[in-house]
Amino acid sequence: MGSLEGRRALVTGASRGIGRAVALRLAADGAAVAVNYHTGEAEAAEVVAAITGAGGTAVSIGGDVSDAAGAAATVATAQEALGGLDILVNNAGITRDNLVLRLSEEDWDAVLDVNLKGAFLCTKAALRPMLRQRSGRIINMTSVVAGTGNPGQANYAAAKAGLIGLTKTVAREVASRGITVNAVAPGFISTRMVEAITEEQRGLVLGRIPLARFGTPEDVAACVAFLAGDDAGYITGQVLGVDGGLSL
Ligand code: NAP
Repeated sequence: MGSLEGRRALVTGASRGIGRAVALRLAADGAAVAVNYHTGEAEAAEVVAAITGAGGTAVSIGGDVSDAAGAAATVATAQEALGGLDILVNNAGITRDNLVLRLSEEDWDAVLDVNLKGAFLCTKAALRPMLRQRSGRIINMTSVVAGTGNPGQANYAAAKAGLIGLTKTVAREVASRGITVNAVAPGFISTRMVEAITEEQRGLVLGRIPLARFGTPEDVAACVAFLAGDDAGYITGQVLGVDGGLSL
C-alpha cells in the first residue's frame, strides 16, 4: 500500500513540468489526484491518462488560479470530484523576465498574480475543508531565487519570497488544527521554464551547482511527496531546498 493511500490531492499547474511530476508521484504513492491546468487541456488529459492507466485515480480541472472565481471553482471541483481534500500543492507559476528598468507593470502584476495571489486564493479555499477535518497538508512551490535574487527576475523573486512569508504565516495560523504548511525551493530544474534560458546562461549556472547537474521534476516531486506524507507530520513553516547545493 502506498504511503498516501486514501489521501486526496490537488496540484495546481500540473499539466507539465514539475506539477506533472508531482501529480504522477502523489498518485504512484496512492493519492487520488486533481490535475489543474490553465491552457494545457490536452497535456493535463495525458497526465490523467497516465495515472488512471497505472491503476490510480485522477481528474483534470481547468482553471486560472490567479482569478478569485477560478481558484475557488478549481478547489471546489477537486473536492467534489475526489470526495474531499487532504493535500494542496500550489505549484502553478509563470515567468515574465526583464530588468527592473524595463519591467512593465503588466508583467509585474501577471507574475505576482499567478505565483503569489494564486497560492493565497487556493489556500484560502482549501483551508475550509481542512480546518473542518482537522488535518491537511499545503505545499507551496517557491524558488531558490527567493533567497538570492536574480537579475531580470524582480517580479518572480518578489513573488517567490512573498510565498515564503505566506507559508510561514499560514503555518502559524493553522498549526493547532493539524494542518502543516511548507515550501519547496527548487534550484534549476529541467522544464520548459528553464529551457527558455540561453545555452551560455545554462553553462554558467551549471558551474555553480555543487552536484553538477540540473535537477529533474522527479527530484522535486520526491520532496513534495515526503512533505505530504505522515513522515513529515512534525515539519511546518519550513522551506526545503531541492537545488543540488546551489543555495549553499
Ligand atoms: P512550467 O513547465 O512552465 O509549468 C507551469 C505550469 O503552471 C503549467 O502546468 C501551467 O499550466 C501552469 N499555470 C500557469 N499559469 C497558470 C494559471 N494562471 N492557473 C493555473 N495554472 C497555471 O513550469 P515548471 O518549471 O514546471 O514550474 C513549476 C513551478 O516550480 C512554478 O511555480 C515555478 O516557479 C517553480 N520553479 C521552477 C523551477 C525550474 O527550474 N523549472 C525552479 C524553481 C521554481 P498550462 O500550461 O495549462 O497553462
